[in-house]
Amino acid sequence: MRPIQKSNKLADVCYDIRGPVLEKARQMEEDGHKIIKLNIGNLAAFGFDAPDEIVQDMIRNMSNASGYTDSKGLFAPRKAVMHYTQQKNIAGVTIDDIYLGNGASELIVMSMNALLNSGDEVLVPAPDYPLWTAAVSLSGGKPVHYVCDEGAGWLPDIDDIKKKINSNTRAIVVINPNNPTGALYPVELLKEIVEVARQHQLIVFADEIYDKVLYDGATHTSLASLADDVLFITMNGLSKNYRSCGYRAGWMVVSGEKRHAKDYIEGLNMLASMRLCANVPGQFAIQTALGGYQSIDELVGPNGRLTRQRDLAHRMLTEIPGVTCVKPKAALYMFPKLDARMYPIADDQQFAYELLAEERVLIVQGTGFNCTDTGHFRVVFLPNTDDLTESIGRIARFLDGYRRR
Ligand code: PLP
Repeated sequence: MRPIQKSNKLADVCYDIRGPVLEKARQMEEDGHKIIKLNIGNLAAFGFDAPDEIVQDMIRNMSNASGYTDSKGLFAPRKAVMHYTQQKNIAGVTIDDIYLGNGASELIVMSMNALLNSGDEVLVPAPDYPLWTAAVSLSGGKPVHYVCDEGAGWLPDIDDIKKKINSNTRAIVVINPNNPTGALYPVELLKEIVEVARQHQLIVFADEIYDKVLYDGATHTSLASLADDVLFITMNGLSKNYRSCGYRAGWMVVSGEKRHAKDYIEGLNMLASMRLCANVPGQFAIQTALGGYQSIDELVGPNGRLTRQRDLAHRMLTEIPGVTCVKPKAALYMFPKLDARMYPIADDQQFAYELLAEERVLIVQGTGFNCTDTGHFRVVFLPNTDDLTESIGRIARFLDGYRRR
């Protein structure tokens, strides 16, 4: 029989967070090994449960959730999202500008599919949350990576962004707060990004899914609050702020310069219709979460569990010889750097495999986030302090052996 091959569309599509190293970890678990997982931002798996009120309301609403809804979603949760945009000072958003999705992930892919033609370029941060790069490629576009500068706390390099704009550039993606670096961008920098978008008529895709996971009393500014003459597509959802990844509840807001985007919006509507609607229990969860009092503040406050785990992981990692790490100001991740003279890593996926095989600790290698050098990896600081202490101790032991090879 003729071999059945995947489509050419997938040739440049890559999503290593759930790639071959995870597959290896799965096999090891099946063989009875216990692995400490520092690889994925899945809060519930580490005992950060969804707020009770959201769970209870979902259960109560289940009997009303068996039918399709409007393609963009039910009115009440979209209204709740509209109020959220008002709290974030995003002007002029109507119910019609709001799309509910099966997580932000579905909407990210949809937003790129509706936009891109072959040859169109989209500026994507490096390192990035790799779904963005994958979604641009899958949609037939070309991801062009702009540098986020580690030396400047992983902030986007505006000069690099400007250098990479040409007549094919359609849009810029900004992930703030950032996965994988934990950076939170200052307002001045956000204004500079908006100015570049304005000058070059770029659409701004703002991924703000961690906008409440902020440490040290920091505040978050939505990019879309900074202008009304640029088109913004803002992504958000319940997965992180409300510890509800499994409910697959996300939203997308179109704002700013909408008048010139009628055709694109038609495309978005078409794709939203084709998938009929987002899962309805998840839609109800949005309504409860955004209308209620539950928050993540306790976990990210001065003595909150996430803050304590961040501090511990950062201190332990940076105590390892040859390891430096920008301390995260937000989100659930840090992105340490290994000194290339002490740890000459040619293939960081192999590095991740070896760490897994020798020490039973699962990380994601830096190149999985489109980071060009092979001396980084991402650590998720969701495990409790005992598991973090144990796993980073094992990383230190592994690196000690690596150095002596
Ligand atoms: N955007 C970023 C930056 C993320 O880190 C993630 C998930 O980890 C997503 C989007 C996807 O979120 P969702 O669960 O809403 O699909």
